[in-house]
Amino acid sequence: MNTRSLSFRLVAWYAGVLLSVFVLLGALTFLFLRHYLEANLLDTQARRARQIADTLVAHASRADEGALRSQIESLYSPEVNDRFIRITRADGAAVYASGPPQNGRFDPTQVPAPRGDAAGQSRKVRLADGATLMLATRAAGGADGTGYRVEVGTSADSVDNTLAQVLVMLAVGLPVAVAVAVSGGFVLVRRALEPVERITRKAEEITQHNLSERLPVVQSGDELERLSVSLNHMINRLEDAIHGSKQFVADASHELRTPLTVMRGELESLAQDAQLRRETRETLGSVLEEVERLAKIVESLFALSRLDAGEAHAEWLRFDLAELAATTAEQMSLLAEDKQVRVDCESTPGVTVEGDPARLKQVIVNLLDNAIKYTPRGGRVRLSVRRESGYAVLDVADDGIGIPAEALPHVFKRFYRVDTSRSREQGGAGLGLAIVESICTAHGAIVEVASAPGRGSRFRVRQPLAGEAAAHA
Ligand code: ADP
Repeated sequence: MNTRSLSFRLVAWYAGVLLSVFVLLGALTFLFLRHYLEANLLDTQARRARQIADTLVAHASRADEGALRSQIESLYSPEVNDRFIRITRADGAAVYASGPPQNGRFDPTQVPAPRGDAAGQSRKVRLADGATLMLATRAAGGADGTGYRVEVGTSADSVDNTLAQVLVMLAVGLPVAVAVAVSGGFVLVRRALEPVERITRKAEEITQHNLSERLPVVQSGDELERLSVSLNHMINRLEDAIHGSKQFVADASHELRTPLTVMRGELESLAQDAQLRRETRETLGSVLEEVERLAKIVESLFALSRLDAGEAHAEWLRFDLAELAATTAEQMSLLAEDKQVRVDCESTPGVTVEGDPARLKQVIVNLLDNAIKYTPRGGRVRLSVRRESGYAVLDVADDGIGIPAEALPHVFKRFYRVDTSRSREQGGAGLGLAIVESICTAHGAIVEVASAPGRGSRFRVRQPLAGEAAAHA
């Protein structure tokens, strides 16, 4: 569980507050109940003491204390009723003291002698053996004016038992209530944050290739709805900006093609003039070379902008990639022969794919062109096409100069060249592999590279076989 997540922090805070409130309420309830029960029991003892004082002791006299004793015994039976009753004369002489209660909860002999100032008081007395007594003391005068002190008490066990039960209930009920509230809160928070999860997933999926997609908008009228609407507006603006810059490249490359073609034609016819001086002819030749390079770059940019605009789908057919690879390799072998590089093609026919054959041919041409370009004389380039678990796999491998590991993640980027000066010498502007990747993406294919400097490179294109594209998607 992520302890920094919003849901965890919300639930932890909620659980903490709930637990503190419950503990505080539980403690207050417990203290109030204890006070109430003890006061109630003491009150009962006080009422009984007053009753004995008013009804029995008030009519007693020193000469007839025996009658008082038997009246108390017969009316109150303290032992049977688990009560403590003691009558003491004001001079301290004991008149009556009840025996041990039937329930044995306290030992009456342990109850301390009444203090002079205790009359009229009700208190909780802890005996030496640990028992607790709720004791009320009353002063009374006999019929002959003799002063007496009446003490009535009972064990505090009933209160303690009730309190213990309440404590058990709180100890069990409190954590259960907190656990139920926290799990409910967790479910609610997860549900409330679910739209955030969906927005995040969708935002992660959106790239420059699917900028027309939008984040889900939760019609909740809250901050979340505002956030998703604002983010969608931001994606609108991004889409417009990216579309604008793509359109600019498309328009610029399109506009440049015609003047470049005219320039090339003019320069070629100029170069054919037999009266030209040798230096002028050489200068013209190198200008022509540069114009051709420029024309290639403009063609590549134009091709990329058309791919960006999704035009690759216009000419889709079903065709055999192996056959296309074999004819392309044959056409390119002339170029390879010039460089004394051998091109071997191993492909078994019947690798049917769906796509634009001209574009996929461009992929093979670009990869073979690079392989031949970056392989020294006497080297070997291997092209193969095969079927592999629902995919057409096209490999172009060479034993040329290879690509350093740090450059591998960048080779498909536009205008990226590993060795700028050498690449330029060989006519590359760093757009060949970018075009390969764009065509592959448009065909639902993936292009990967593996390479080791000095040992060679292998470019692999994996494209779903015809009829398998939907399954792979
Ligand atoms: P370029 O037109 O410059 O060749 P690419 O986009 O085709 O541009 O390739 C980008 C860079 O990747 C090249 O500049 C080159 O350094 C490197 N590269 C491409 N293919 C190979 C290969 N087969 N062997 C070695 N390096 C390669």
